[in-house]
Amino acid sequence: MARYTDADCRLCRREGAKLFLKGERCLTKKCAMEKRPVNPGVHPVSRKKPSEYQTQLREKQKVKRAYNLLEKQFHGYYVEAERMKGKTGENMLSLLERRLDNVVYRLGLGSSRAASRQIVNHGHICVNGKCVNIPSYQVKVGDVITVKENKQKKGNYSDIRSSRVVVPKWLEFDAEKLTGKVNSLPAREDIDLNIEEHLIIELYSK
Ligand code: SF4
Repeated sequence: MARYTDADCRLCRREGAKLFLKGERCLTKKCAMEKRPVNPGVHPVSRKKPSEYQTQLREKQKVKRAYNLLEKQFHGYYVEAERMKGKTGENMLSLLERRLDNVVYRLGLGSSRAASRQIVNHGHICVNGKCVNIPSYQVKVGDVITVKENKQKKGNYSDIRSSRVVVPKWLEFDAEKLTGKVNSLPAREDIDLNIEEHLIIELYSK
């Protein structure tokens, strides 16, 4: 499968937003967006006003990169969201938030979405007592997410008990038991990324 292998911080600089791709480092002064918040490359500052298409494209790339997805996977969420009742943009964000790797990240079990995906891939996570190693698995209301007992000593899970991660209100987390629960589906206001999802919908509906 195709994979992005260049520096993660270039993606944040390209999108002009912190995408929190590198865990702890993103919260320190070493963050490239703190030190050099301009486009990567030889022409970091463009004097041209971006076209409508460029604005829409950048918004789509920002969200796709934040959730660590490739184009085909990301477009699949748009197609599914369009079939659902309600606002397509909000449906799409809700589907992205409900991915198991994102839930693991939101619970603070992984330092970034990429790290959380690896945790899921390596079979550390159980949903309702059953091991699930599919990062795109969609969680449902009432699902209980736990770290497999024999894996609890393998990851850096001991640090989690003292970490300061703010768990969104649609989830709850018991740090002692390393167990999370889905209380409700994520609402638009629960998604803290600065996203204008209507731009993505406009781009894809052309
Ligand atoms: Fe983005 Fe994190 Fe790199 Fe900062 S440290 S530029 S937030 S990936």
